[in-house]
Amino acid sequence: MSDVIHLLPDSVANQIAAGEVIQRPASVLKELVENAIDAGASYVQVIVKDAGRSLIQVTDNGDGMSDTDARMAFERHATSKITVAQDLFSLRTMGFRGEALASIAAVAQVELRSRREEDELGTLIEIAGSRVFKQESGQCAKGTTFLIKNLFFNVPARRRFLKSDNVEKSHLLNEFYRIVLVHPDVEFSFYEGEEEIYHLQVSNIKIRIEQVFGSAKKKLNQQLLSVESITDLVSIKGFIGRPEFAQKSAQQYFFVNGRYMRHPYFHKAVMLAYNQLIQTAENPTYFIYFEVDPQTIDINIHPTKTEIKFENEQVLWSILSATVKEALGKFNIVPSIDFDREGALDFPVQRDYKSINPPITIFNTSYNPFGTSSYKRPQMEWESLYRGFEDEKNSLVDADPSVLPEPSSTVIQSRLNIEEEVTNNVYFQLKNRYIITSVKSGMMMIDQRRAHIRILFDQFLREIQQKKGFSQQLIFPETIDLLPEDLPFFNQIINELQYLGFDFQQTSPSQFKVQGIPAQMKGSERIILLLNDMVDIVKTATGEAIADMQQQIALSLAETAAITYGQSLNNEEMSHLIQQLFSCPSHNYTPDGKSVMSVVTQEEIQKRF
Ligand code: ADP
Ligand code: MG
Repeated sequence: MSDVIHLLPDSVANQIAAGEVIQRPASVLKELVENAIDAGASYVQVIVKDAGRSLIQVTDNGDGMSDTDARMAFERHATSKITVAQDLFSLRTMGFRGEALASIAAVAQVELRSRREEDELGTLIEIAGSRVFKQESGQCAKGTTFLIKNLFFNVPARRRFLKSDNVEKSHLLNEFYRIVLVHPDVEFSFYEGEEEIYHLQVSNIKIRIEQVFGSAKKKLNQQLLSVESITDLVSIKGFIGRPEFAQKSAQQYFFVNGRYMRHPYFHKAVMLAYNQLIQTAENPTYFIYFEVDPQTIDINIHPTKTEIKFENEQVLWSILSATVKEALGKFNIVPSIDFDREGALDFPVQRDYKSINPPITIFNTSYNPFGTSSYKRPQMEWESLYRGFEDEKNSLVDADPSVLPEPSSTVIQSRLNIEEEVTNNVYFQLKNRYIITSVKSGMMMIDQRRAHIRILFDQFLREIQQKKGFSQQLIFPETIDLLPEDLPFFNQIINELQYLGFDFQQTSPSQFKVQGIPAQMKGSERIILLLNDMVDIVKTATGEAIADMQQQIALSLAETAAITYGQSLNNEEMSHLIQQLFSCPSHNYTPDGKSVMSVVTQEEIQKRF
């Protein structure tokens, strides 16, 4: 028998390699945009058609390639980015394997145009299924444009494996986000066909996050807290979401040295820091950027390069955990621990104080996350706010950082139980708008409408999640007429609305009779307007924003149902409102980040006399 082993032709070898690197249109987008960044571009334009099936086009104004390099770029293991194995350990570029273009060209029809600044003419190459059809010189702008047409045209099995347009589109956007969020110094645009979906101007990280995930309705900058910790081992910077904005599916991003990474172990550190501050089904938003010595990480373990191994994983875990807890402690808890415990005008909340413990480690000044190393937590001024509680049994200050807080569900109901003490309380309503009461450090002012919005929002959200809102039947049902094109959007939220107590009867394909509304709503006048608003919200939500639909619905309803300014309240009503407010985990802010309360300190008052 003759020998049976032979080398695979390049085109076949490339196709096999492509299976790992190029799984879907989003993988192409990732590789091309990363290459553009590596080429020093300050502007990158992405165009996709049919969710990337028929076209993915990436244009940059970077270095460009010479004729020879342009041709070489499609060879497997052709790269300008590393030369010796040692380079792998000090990587600063996004790509390094020299596989991407070879893989893409094996499974698609590719057109490349590229010109370096110093060259008068650029290069045009056409290549499909690893075969070069054309290479010629011609006029073109400085930089590089790749057109990837008909992905998987020669691999029908792969093509069939692709998901619906919506799914592929969200993969495309996710890859786009992962890159733009680490390159705020680069301008990006993203087109779907002719339509510009994103145009991201050069900015900083915080504004870039806002550009990508914020909207007129959802002002992100009020929802984010900054985190920062710089040690010899690592610099951790970024932003985390206030606990009250946690939602079922949240934006969660880790980056290391300018590269997106998945890291389940670090994820756990963040989640634990939020323990007791958010409900179990909710997830916090985070955008956390690590910088470490490239020698201490290995990114060479996975072809798509999102899993990264760190040399000092456990130490980094502790630093991350302490950093996040500190940020949460500093911002979230302060006004709630400011109440008096003695005296006629006490606000009687001390009984359950234990149950609103903020994350524990931040109160223990001797807590040392590194065992015997020399790490020292800086002294925080705000710790003085806790004075007066030291004598409490199970004092916050003495809490053992190694004991994990109890699950949060008990906290929510037991936070306040002040029935019998509440009679002592004196409230004063100012201008039918603010509720004023005395607290330990001075005078507390509460915005009545915002307080009520917070209370109702929490209630509505709970009802949606537990699917048990109460309904009040309308004596005169209202009718909502939908445009045919709005119908699918309405259908997307109809379940949530029913969980809240809405009762619909479909009377024609696009018409519904509203027979019942949530029990907390005062009347039905604004119901139709509200429902239309909600449909608009769903319509304009993109990608993951749809996931926080429940929050949007809860917020719109809360805003509609909340007491207004100008409404006068008696002492009992005020007392009730305040009890309810303080049983909300995040009573300091409205769901959209506005302050609910403010304290004028005794010192400030004294200064006036
Ligand atoms: P890698 O990025 O891992 O080096 P690729 O296959 O993605 O491998 O690219 C191969 C080479 O082609 C790169 O090393 C680079 O020299 C060149 N190249 C690719 N895209 C561009 C671009 N947009 N501008 C300039 N050069 C590029
Ligand atoms: Mg590359």
